[in-house]
Amino acid sequence: MAEDRWIYLNGELVPKAEARVSVFDHGFLYGDGIFEGIRVYGGRVFKLDEHLRRLYESAKAILLDIPLDPAAMKAAVLDTTRKNGLADAYIRLVVSRGPGDLGLDPRRCTTPTVLIIVDEVALYPPKVYQEGLELASVSIRRMSPETINPAIKSLNYLNNILAKIEANQRGLAEVLMLNQQGWVVEGTGDNVFIVKDGELITPPPYVGILNGITRQVVMQLAREMGLPCREAIFNLFDVYNADECFLTGTAAEIVPAVRCDGRQIGSGQPGAITLRLTEAFQRYARSEGTPVWGTEPVRA
Ligand code: PMP
Repeated sequence: MAEDRWIYLNGELVPKAEARVSVFDHGFLYGDGIFEGIRVYGGRVFKLDEHLRRLYESAKAILLDIPLDPAAMKAAVLDTTRKNGLADAYIRLVVSRGPGDLGLDPRRCTTPTVLIIVDEVALYPPKVYQEGLELASVSIRRMSPETINPAIKSLNYLNNILAKIEANQRGLAEVLMLNQQGWVVEGTGDNVFIVKDGELITPPPYVGILNGITRQVVMQLAREMGLPCREAIFNLFDVYNADECFLTGTAAEIVPAVRCDGRQIGSGQPGAITLRLTEAFQRYARSEGTPVWGTEPVRA
């Protein structure tokens, strides 16, 4: 991260070196808080309203009162992006329960911490997009919606981190997580799609996923392109025997997956539908969004 970044912290823009939060912040002590990851393409913030909506829904689910209304939060995101002068960036928006005492009780935390970081994005290397990812299923199960609902984009990512550690141990960049029933749900930080006989299939939110904004955009683009797309539960057999498989996420965008648990998926190359959707996504991402500077998009 560049040294000269400006961070939004509780209503002020401060240099990175001065952006500090309390060790008593329950975001730090307990993972009590929520966040969003948002992209800026060519000077426009992609799907900002959708990300803010998900942020406020996550907040509601954990009974966290964000001290800014959505309009003020939107202004803060745009101000911070402008201040950092990046036309293509990744925005990390965090709202934690704020400083409290050493007990769990959120009522002791009277002022939530709000911070916004804008930085360059680190994607997978280009090779992954050209050749496709190798996946594996991991032993740790995705939390059930009856525990911490994965629909909440909470600061408590230990479930995903445990899966990421399994990925690291196998030398893989991403893995597939199953729920308690054995249905495929998502990656550690991406949603999953399979393509079978020309149809796109992705797990429905009730199986326990973060309802990704990229996932929703891909479903919309697929429908516009006349590609059948449905939400349905599936298992590893269906992944192994899919014609194509890909992952979606704000940082990753659309990543083809060509192997899983030692099985080749389809031709073992990124599939034709995956590539068509990638092209459509890239075009769409650069054609819409909330302008950071006036109304004219800035070309990077
Ligand atoms: N699932 C999980 C667990 C995630 O953390 C993310 C975001 N990184 C996604 C899916 C993808 O969501 P989005 O497209 O909104 O980034």
